[in-house]
Amino acid sequence: MNEIVLKDEIIKLKKALHVSIVAHFYQKDEVFELADFAGDSLQLAQWAAKDENPYLLFCGVGFMGQSVKILAPNKRVFMPKIACCAMARMIDVGYFDQNVEILKNAGIKEEDILPVTYINSSAEVKARVGMMGGYVCTSSNAKKIIIEARKSNKKILFVPDRCLGQNIAIEMGLTSCVVGDGSDPKLSDIICYNGFCSVHQLFDVEDIAFYREKYPDILIVTHPECKPEVCALSDFVGSTSQIIDFVQKLPKEQKVAIGTEYNMVKRLRSENTYILSSTKPECPTMNETTLQDVYNALKSIQEERFENEITISEETRKWAFVALNRMFEL
Ligand code: SF4
Repeated sequence: MNEIVLKDEIIKLKKALHVSIVAHFYQKDEVFELADFAGDSLQLAQWAAKDENPYLLFCGVGFMGQSVKILAPNKRVFMPKIACCAMARMIDVGYFDQNVEILKNAGIKEEDILPVTYINSSAEVKARVGMMGGYVCTSSNAKKIIIEARKSNKKILFVPDRCLGQNIAIEMGLTSCVVGDGSDPKLSDIICYNGFCSVHQLFDVEDIAFYREKYPDILIVTHPECKPEVCALSDFVGSTSQIIDFVQKLPKEQKVAIGTEYNMVKRLRSENTYILSSTKPECPTMNETTLQDVYNALKSIQEERFENEITISEETRKWAFVALNRMFEL
């Protein structure tokens, strides 16, 4: 089937089967254009949890589909491809517990540790965080969550993205370290797990210097998953949605170099927009999902094969919801 026929078939099938399709901003254009709703991970989970269709096709990565299931356990959530965020894969419950042990061995009691997990983590890790009294956060509300978490007077264990943890610490004038970097965790306000996003690691201070020299009036915009030294030199640092808001309000003639995922930057603004890297910053797992996968997933629902369905045990869901809900309550 060619692309036009495939798109047509998908539209017919989704309507007949009462399936909603949502897509993350980092998805390929061909998939993005078919979505009933597009957004960042939190917006997608919130929209999907309220959507009335019984089936949801989530075009994104695994932890995002899980977030819908955590919020709306009765909804049947499918993914065209079980793609997994590389950062979320860097931590599981075993690694999480190992890090807690390392802190205990450094002289910090377990009851004095308050974990905060970035939404880019599995339901199991979120559940562990929920059990320990901790929070989920996103890149747009991480500062607010850390302010609240610090009221407990406990040490914050921030997982899995070390860059987001370090960037928030710098913004708030707090001290931070990365588990295993040789420093004494007792001396840090925020102790970061050693995870990162390989896509946002691509942006470097040399790229900023290059653009500033070439276009002295250019604005540099980055995501807080970028390295702290990159964010420190940026004119604006924000979550995916915040970047979209910021860039859309710029006058057309304003040059801007953006340090985040390629598909999103490409769609955001055609004129005077530059990618802050000589390497194309595509998220490999986000790019795995194709139109053919979307079609196959719909056929599997139609034929009641129900492939690639997201399932979470009720015990895990319950505790992951506790951690997510603490964020919503704020
Ligand atoms: Fe994960 Fe990075 Fe891809 Fe986002 S861009 S889904 S954080 S690997």
